[in-house]
Amino acid sequence: MTNTNEVDVCVVGLGPTGQAVAHRALSAGLTVTAIDPRPDRLWGPTYSCWIDELPGWLPRRVIASRIDKPTVHANAEHRIDRPYAVLSKPLLRAAMPIDGATVIAGRAARVEGHLVETADGRTVRAAAVIDARGLPPTQNRPAASAHGIFVDADRAAGFVGAGEGLLLDWRDENGAGPDEPPSFLYAVPIGDGTVIFEETSLGLHGGMSQKELRRRTVNRLAAHGIALTGDEPSEAAHYPLDQAPPRRRHRNQPIPFGSRGGMMHPCTGYSVADSLALADTLIDALQTGDDAVRKLWTTNARLVYWMRMRGLNGLGRLTTPQSRAMFESFFTASPRGQAALLSQHDDAIGLAAVLVSTVAHTWPFHWRFDLVGWTNRHRWDQSARL
Ligand SMILES: Cc1cc2nc3c(=O)[nH]c(=O)nc-3n(C[C@H](O)[C@H](O)[C@H](O)COP(=O)(O)OP(=O)(O)OC[C@H]3O[C@@H](n4cnc5c(N)ncnc54)[C@H](O)[C@@H]3O)c2cc1C
Repeated sequence: MTNTNEVDVCVVGLGPTGQAVAHRALSAGLTVTAIDPRPDRLWGPTYSCWIDELPGWLPRRVIASRIDKPTVHANAEHRIDRPYAVLSKPLLRAAMPIDGATVIAGRAARVEGHLVETADGRTVRAAAVIDARGLPPTQNRPAASAHGIFVDADRAAGFVGAGEGLLLDWRDENGAGPDEPPSFLYAVPIGDGTVIFEETSLGLHGGMSQKELRRRTVNRLAAHGIALTGDEPSEAAHYPLDQAPPRRRHRNQPIPFGSRGGMMHPCTGYSVADSLALADTLIDALQTGDDAVRKLWTTNARLVYWMRMRGLNGLGRLTTPQSRAMFESFFTASPRGQAALLSQHDDAIGLAAVLVSTVAHTWPFHWRFDLVGWTNRHRWDQSARL
């Protein structure tokens, strides 16, 4: 690290990604300045992940709710033998302290490779600037949209009990018509005495409206005898899934990291565990003087991103029965194949194999043409804004 800079690392944005980078940089002995308009605000969304994705340095006490074998309903019911977790936001943040950092409450207006200026005129010079400002607006990009309703666990028990979880529920219970874009239910106990029931749409350009997603969630709950009072808290998601990794030639620019830097999984809408797991790769590169973007985005990692984008495009054009058939095929793949798609940052061979096998086992045969985009390529483009 050069000592002509004020600090070694300036982290812009203190979402889970920025917090992890600042924390790991401090743990490695680097000096850190972090900038966020509201650095003390607790993050909004409920974060989940597969437990084996979490980095070793993160204490397991951050897990608020554990589901040993989450359930998928495609054409048939599958129990996935891979533990899954909902994270506690306060404990996650507490596990990544940044006490040694200088924290600036402000909005970065200029973010360059070695310089950050805030809107109110403060300047930070750093050997490396990490851009963890999250995702830009969705506009008409392929999106993750979800509407989640938090239901008391005792009222939810007949549908999702303690220690259970529905990762993807594609059953015909959401009231969507055959000519409407598909969505599935995600439902897990979050560890505070409630279960979140979240109807989710992945891959539609511009996403699906909250009104439609709520209607579908309420229908799902009603199908299982759960009526709402209307006072239940809710959460909303609407963000783009196609935020690309930084280009290879990235010199003298800030290093985008986390959801901003290509770590948003195009097919699942998850980025937190991957960002946490890659924080040390970034910090190691900064310490050794390696090109961090090259270290993070190897050829295999870029290939994985490219293939997942093909998967996202496929997801965004299927009907509900086709989605069910495709997930039926995918969830009969090997554990390695499933993890290659869902989790691994750079298992290009595993991912290529599972994608080919998923298409090859999707039935009836002609639906494969939709999946790969030879037919009905833009099926929902006009109606995505339901
Ligand atoms: C309802 C919902 C549920 C979700 N569930 C999951 C899940 O289960 N698992 C998962 O992995 N992901 C989930 N996601 C996606 C998740 O939100 C993102 O993966 C995650 O927040 C990305 O973290 P991040 O730190 O990269 O960006 P963000 O969380 O968006 O944080 C960006 C930070 O940058 C700050 N910032 C922005 N602009 C500036 C600026 N100009 N100057 C300084 N600071 C700035 C913001 O204030 C913010 O603190 C969910 C999202 C939603 C909405």
